[in-house]
Amino acid sequence: MSTQTDIAPVHISADRVVSAVPKRLLIGGRWQNAAGARTFDVVDPATGQVLAAVADASPEDGAAALQAAVAAQAEFAASSPRHRADLLMAAFELLHERIDDLALVMTLEMGKPLAEAKGEIAYAAEFFRHFAEEAVRIRGDYQVAPGGGARFLTTKQPVGPALLITPWNFPMAMGTRKLGPAIAAGCTSVVKPAQQTPLSMLALFGILVEVGVPDGVVNLVPTTDAAGVAEPLIRSGQVRKLSFTGSTKIGKVLLEQAADKVVRTSLELGGNAPFIVFDDADLDEAVAGAMQAKMRNGGEACTAANRIYVQDTVMDAFAERLAAEMGKLKVGPGTDDGVRLGPMIDQAALDKISGLVNDAVERGATTVLRGEIPDGKGYFYPPTVLSNVSTDALMAGEEIFGPVAPVTPFHDEAEAIRVANDTPYGLVAYVFTNDLRRGLRVAEAIESGMVGLNQGVVSNPAAPFGGMKESGLGREGGAVGIEEFLETKYIGIALA
Ligand code: NAP
Repeated sequence: MSTQTDIAPVHISADRVVSAVPKRLLIGGRWQNAAGARTFDVVDPATGQVLAAVADASPEDGAAALQAAVAAQAEFAASSPRHRADLLMAAFELLHERIDDLALVMTLEMGKPLAEAKGEIAYAAEFFRHFAEEAVRIRGDYQVAPGGGARFLTTKQPVGPALLITPWNFPMAMGTRKLGPAIAAGCTSVVKPAQQTPLSMLALFGILVEVGVPDGVVNLVPTTDAAGVAEPLIRSGQVRKLSFTGSTKIGKVLLEQAADKVVRTSLELGGNAPFIVFDDADLDEAVAGAMQAKMRNGGEACTAANRIYVQDTVMDAFAERLAAEMGKLKVGPGTDDGVRLGPMIDQAALDKISGLVNDAVERGATTVLRGEIPDGKGYFYPPTVLSNVSTDALMAGEEIFGPVAPVTPFHDEAEAIRVANDTPYGLVAYVFTNDLRRGLRVAEAIESGMVGLNQGVVSNPAAPFGGMKESGLGREGGAVGIEEFLETKYIGIALA
């Protein structure tokens, strides 16, 4: 039960936690105003209220941040792996110590419920622990040349200053997934967070400064001029690594820019995940998996189940059970007790989701569930389940990025694989079946970087995350994540 007295302490602590977050640029170890002291507002999507004003970096500020990163690069590259690991572990500890405050900041600026925000901070912290452990395991090799005589010595070196650009939907974890390996490898960086959610990254940078990351090693430039700040850096010849998480559209623009100076590039882009349920699957497990794959982050995830294909004999039963579960979700501000679905990020997101739903219904889809949304302000969209969604509906081709589950029937395994692969994207797919051989056959046939077999979440810092086709280049996390920030150098040695 929510009373006035229950609500008041949340608002008081909201003011406290937001005011504790740094609001300025971090360049060369110094918090500073943007050129001309320009700022921009960060808005709570649950209320439309302004939470804070944050420094708005200009292209000149971006250039200064890169100079700081370049100046710090040689010394940081020469620092001991143990030192870099210790920095990451100290930040991991502080993230956990402050998880409640950090979660509240994230919920306020991004909208996800507090429990999910806490989950993201724990996930974000885990990238630091994982890469602390990787930092001290960077290896080289020593080999006798096949013809004898000469020896091959290989060693790993940090690729150099990195530009890291992150999206709003996971405002902290997408930062630590890049900063963890960058710091572990000995790369300095300039980070450009999403303009809708800079506070979580600013809070993270406060922690990095506190644990003693050397001046210039990490630099932060929130801005409303993403293109103006990023492009000159990418074309400067001084950025040696670009790591971007965001839409496929912007990823392609950056890939072209990176070509100019042949910048090492990692791209974590959009998805269009198929979620396939065979008639031999345990339907309760499949529904639970679909709830995770669809509703994690309110559907605002690159990994979100975007097309749910269910074998025709069980489609109606599956859609009804899914609707029953989605119908239980309480919708409201993420700070309220019991809320499982917060607001979408902005009005444009709402308009896009509505347009896709209307299109699917016009093409013959049946509305199985359209849930309730709270009165008043905030960008809320109701949990929605559609069945018999046509494979030519617009939502079959683009990310819905919201709490809408479109269910489409298929007849047999070959058809399921064909429709699942009928997309330029290839980030993740989910397959539910109790037949192990079929599960592995389908997992191997699907063109995606990741597959959840009887599970609705694949993200894990210790596993390689990334996509095929237009979903990206490279992998983050896992044992390979650090390789994205390392060059392999071969030294040929004549022994004779
Ligand atoms: P977005 O519009 O591509 O923006 C991502 C980041 O790029 C933001 O920081 C944005 O700044 C910046 N940006 C925009 N235009 C730019 C330009 N011309 N040059 C340099 N930077 C630019 O994506 P979003 O809407 O924030 O995020 C949602 C997308 O990210 C979805 O497609 C989702 O699937 C994808 N995503 C992928 C993964 C993955 O791991 N594959 C993970 C999470 C999200 P502003 O904020 O100022 O626009």
